[in-house]
Amino acid sequence: MGLEEKLPSGVLLSTVEGLAGFMRKGSLWPATFGLACCAIEMMATTSGRYDLARFGMEAFRASPRQADLMIVAGRVSQKMAPVLRQIYDQMAEPKWVLAMGVCASSGGMFNNYAIIQGVDHVVPVDIYLPGCPPRPEMLLNAILTLHQQIQEMPLGVDRERAIWAAEKAALQA
Ligand code: SF4
Repeated sequence: MGLEEKLPSGVLLSTVEGLAGFMRKGSLWPATFGLACCAIEMMATTSGRYDLARFGMEAFRASPRQADLMIVAGRVSQKMAPVLRQIYDQMAEPKWVLAMGVCASSGGMFNNYAIIQGVDHVVPVDIYLPGCPPRPEMLLNAILTLHQQIQEMPLGVDRERAIWAAEKAALQA
């Protein structure tokens, strides 16, 4: 007789890793970090119409120490880059980064000396979301994709090192 048959109904089996992923993805708290027009759509995502609260994420934190998701919503200027990195460093592990919109992802139409050509020059990015600006539905879709990544992330992985290594390998390929 298998173990499942011996257990009373209502008992669920999982791994510690699976349980940790499930709880992490259901309790992400984003840092308040709107940089430009994309931030308006990010704020709209928390409204009753789009209801980010369904995913346990409506609590945007003003303190990076209480946040584990940085949504970079807008273009990143050279002057803002060190501030952004400092806020990222102040967030506790495990933490994730979502580049919202073409400006945050690649500099977008601001191809000039004042704007960082992609926030991944400053922090490791988990999800890139295209659009100018991406609509709230697109942000929700990116967040749900990130949830899937978080669910599947093994415990103890150095996420930052893994992202840099993957990017380096992609550049060399
Ligand atoms: Fe503004 Fe478009 Fe850039 Fe977003 S992607 S910050 S909406 S210009």
